[in-house]
Amino acid sequence: MAENETRDFFITGLRNAHAMENQALSIMKPQLERIENYPEVAQKLQQHIQETEGQIDRLEQILQDLGEDHSALKDWALSFAGGMAAMGHTMAGDEIIKNSLANFAFENYEIAAYKSLLTIADAGGYVAATSGLRANLAEEQTMAAWLDENLAQVTTRFLSLKEADVTAKI
Ligand code: MG
Ligand code: FE
Repeated sequence: MAENETRDFFITGLRNAHAMENQALSIMKPQLERIENYPEVAQKLQQHIQETEGQIDRLEQILQDLGEDHSALKDWALSFAGGMAAMGHTMAGDEIIKNSLANFAFENYEIAAYKSLLTIADAGGYVAATSGLRANLAEEQTMAAWLDENLAQVTTRFLSLKEADVTAKI
């Protein structure tokens, strides 16, 4: 593949990752606002929201270092993210379970995206971009592992709250 084609593909991938991270915020922020009975989930979401804001900064820095203006990109990414806000399963009684599954799926999607971007960065020789992409990847892997480990506990708590009829709030 020609050098400029690899570059175009890399830039497109970085822009998609930027949109993906804004989408992540639009999924996590409404969840955080609604959680009342799962404080450890709320705490982890709060932490990962902050991490995600840092991930967006890293992607913008990488794009800027490549000479790409991201002012137009921001608007595009945010409008894209708006479409995913409906993913909250707001009225369902098992919202916390559905959100846990969706979050696990999303983190693994992010992991795949960063692994692919790192492969493109290696192929194109974009050495300066790799530390930021690796940092983002590591945070997604940590979050995915936490969700994996916590799924049984959340489900058990959901069942016991259900038994106690504390179903009005997640
Ligand atoms: Mg992320
Ligand atoms: Fe994430």
